[in-house]
Amino acid sequence: MKRLLLLLPLFGMLLVRAQKLPAPKEHFGFSIGDNYHLTNYTQTEAYFRKLAVSPRMRLVDIGPTEEGRRQWMCIVSDPENLARLERYKEIAQLLARAAVPEAEARALASEGKAVVWIDGGLHATETVSPHQLIESVWQFVSREDAETRRILRDAIILFVHVNPDGHELVGNWYMRNPVPEKRSYRNLPRQYQKYVGHDNNRDFFMMNMKESQNISRQQYVEWCPQIIYNHHQTGPAGSVLAGPPYRDPFNFVYDPLLVTSLDAVGAAMNNRLNAEGKPGYTQRAGSVFSTWWNGGLRTTPYFHNSIGILTEIIGDPAPSKVPLVPSRLVPNWATPNPVTPQDWTFRRSIDYSVSLNYAVLDYAVRHKDQLLFNIWRMGRNSIEAGSRDNWSLTPRLIDSVSNAWKQDLRARNEVPRGDTVPARYYDQVFRDPTLRDARGYIIPSDQADWPTATKLVNALLYSGVKVHRATRSFTVNGKSYPEGSFVVFTAQAYRPHVRDMFEPQDHPNDFQYPGGPPVPPYDAAGWTPAFTMGIRFDRIPDAFDGPFEALPYGALQAAAGGIAGKGGTGFLLRSDVNHSYTVVNELLRSGVEVHRISTGRGDAPAGSFFVPAKARPQLEKLARANGVRALAVSGRPAQLQKIRPLRIALFENYGGSEPSGWARWILEQYGFPAARIYANDIDRGNLSERFDLILFVTGTVPAPGSRSTAGGPRPDDIPQEFHAMLGRFTADSSMPALRRFLEDGGSIAAIGSATQLAYHLKLPVHNALTELVNGEERALPAEKFYIPGSILEAVADTTTPAAWGMPRRPYVLFARSPVFMLSADAVATGSLRPLLWFDNSRTLRSGWAWGQSYLKDAVAAFEARVGKGKLFAFGPEILFRGQAQGTYRLLFNQLYKTGE
Ligand SMILES: [Zn+2]
Repeated sequence: MKRLLLLLPLFGMLLVRAQKLPAPKEHFGFSIGDNYHLTNYTQTEAYFRKLAVSPRMRLVDIGPTEEGRRQWMCIVSDPENLARLERYKEIAQLLARAAVPEAEARALASEGKAVVWIDGGLHATETVSPHQLIESVWQFVSREDAETRRILRDAIILFVHVNPDGHELVGNWYMRNPVPEKRSYRNLPRQYQKYVGHDNNRDFFMMNMKESQNISRQQYVEWCPQIIYNHHQTGPAGSVLAGPPYRDPFNFVYDPLLVTSLDAVGAAMNNRLNAEGKPGYTQRAGSVFSTWWNGGLRTTPYFHNSIGILTEIIGDPAPSKVPLVPSRLVPNWATPNPVTPQDWTFRRSIDYSVSLNYAVLDYAVRHKDQLLFNIWRMGRNSIEAGSRDNWSLTPRLIDSVSNAWKQDLRARNEVPRGDTVPARYYDQVFRDPTLRDARGYIIPSDQADWPTATKLVNALLYSGVKVHRATRSFTVNGKSYPEGSFVVFTAQAYRPHVRDMFEPQDHPNDFQYPGGPPVPPYDAAGWTPAFTMGIRFDRIPDAFDGPFEALPYGALQAAAGGIAGKGGTGFLLRSDVNHSYTVVNELLRSGVEVHRISTGRGDAPAGSFFVPAKARPQLEKLARANGVRALAVSGRPAQLQKIRPLRIALFENYGGSEPSGWARWILEQYGFPAARIYANDIDRGNLSERFDLILFVTGTVPAPGSRSTAGGPRPDDIPQEFHAMLGRFTADSSMPALRRFLEDGGSIAAIGSATQLAYHLKLPVHNALTELVNGEERALPAEKFYIPGSILEAVADTTTPAAWGMPRRPYVLFARSPVFMLSADAVATGSLRPLLWFDNSRTLRSGWAWGQSYLKDAVAAFEARVGKGKLFAFGPEILFRGQAQGTYRLLFNQLYKTGE
């Protein structure tokens, strides 16, 4: 018996040895990094399955992709750790949520393992990224050197494929050419994420896409890694890669320990490459990547006290060259070890990437206890800040300190000398109770668009935020709230993320030099989802409590819909609820008669939908499914307008784009079927026989004067099946057909830069952002007017059907958006009608706006009569990335035909 027991473990080892792990070449037929060779996802998935027999690896399915593939996470660690995986996960969660006192945190930090996320493939044409993932998984399950074993002993590595669909598309597209030297991944016929392509890296706070949901659940609900390493391409010209730390500004809501930890990991990465004789790492001012924005795979971690790492590396499957960029050759703090011009191969980029993964993991295991304790420390700091009166150091508050001082000096006719200000000015601001950080936010359940408010709550839940729900009605600061309202306290570890979701982003005024041009933020400057979603919430600066139950982490909520009221004539669906439109679209599809009411009433604003009583069974089912509350009424409302669905077309260029993909996804989500059309479809004419409305999004219409939008590939370079997408929108060939379409009674909705259609149509509108210089009109320079992605408050004409269901003062997403002056005569005759405008000089609500006063009295959106048809022009991004849900209705209203 004793002998047998001793033999068993040996026998187990022999079994494992017998199943020899295949090197990539044995499986794929080529080595990772071979010139002109890319894998696809099907092959990669099969390879991961083969490697999963290793005792060092567990293969975990983290959910479906938008195209229906399975998304895999390879958990790689020492077999002993894998046997205790649930315990290590629990420790990671307890520390990230700072759910234990300090002494216990220290003990858990010692017991636990470093959890490090390393991914690949997010942007599928960045081909180094999925391939370094494959190579790294292989090396970590097969290498026997001391360092690898040391890393596996103290780290749990989560190797995650973050875009399976894109990998399949790009791999197959590249390899379709049998001649290796002629292979190219360019001219893809569609986006490398089913809908939104590159914007799959802008979705990690809104969680619209399935991949974002899968990934966030692992990152913030399940595993809470201390380090998240997200691989990208390409490095700035003349470098090999850009990595951490990044340029200013970083976001002011982060814990300082997070910022310095990013510095420490960056130093370890840079250091290792230098020790291995691998030059070309650039950091800080050496690249454009900042640490400001939320929603990226590596930036959302910062808002969760997790060290997000981004590298952008060069490398193409075809041999390439590091170009000569003299300005990069003088060693400095940005690039301590410049790379000199030379030939480059794909394999070298793979080797660099594997070294970088080793550097991050080596750092993680050498500083394991500290890394685990520090995420607890940051979480605890957050809980403490959310439990007391707290004032954050932000540009807005610090400016008000300086301004108060300067104002007093002016009153005394003195001039400021030096930078030092008497300390009492600090106290004036940083002890002012009206300027305190919030203790929490209340989302009342009696707001009209409750389904959309519930979406925000679900986005928070996917992100690991702790949310409470009121079990009965309650009162805070004299205001009462109904049962079912949601409460989000800031006294929690993920406080930076909570604040970011509800508070304005206070982007600093960032200029190249005083009076000079702005330094563009890497992505948006402001995005506050609670604003763009148009929901109602209260910010509570005082400590408060109530009959609240904590929802389990990650437990998604459903808005309760159904029928309320007792009337017997029919039902009203409010026009200010996005999913009313979904319900209506389904009803119309099943042949139910639906009307809109043109005059608002107490329980339903103008434009609300009336559904006759006999449709009750269908309506009840749909209202439940969509979380919409229908109101049973007695008496048929006056002024009913019967509606019918329109035949909708969405214009795209070859291969699609992020904005058109978002539009397509949103139309699908809300039940508006739309055909995709291309330049050739327009140029062929007879549009009104096929469509009632055509939607043009940003980037699809050339500027007046330029002949066409950027063209697609040559027909010879792509398979026949994609030729229908070729062609270019040009003023000469496309505008006559579009004008004819409008004159025949068609509608066009244009968003963002597509509003240039108004100029092509020679409507009496004018760019509002110009100035006269020596008698010549020119666009305002960025030194005078500059608003990158930010949230502004506009005014809406809610009396007109185009803006039904909108609040009087909606928040709009403005991203270098066009604004207009309308001819007064045309407005007087009714051929032009403003829908949105700015009525004052201080419209910024979140982000960064320089020269806002230029917007005063400018028109942001209008409708224009053209023949029997209409153009609806929306300057702001009313669909922005599936985030601007508070302005979706500005499009939805145009998607029905009214009357007979
Ligand atoms: Zn990328």
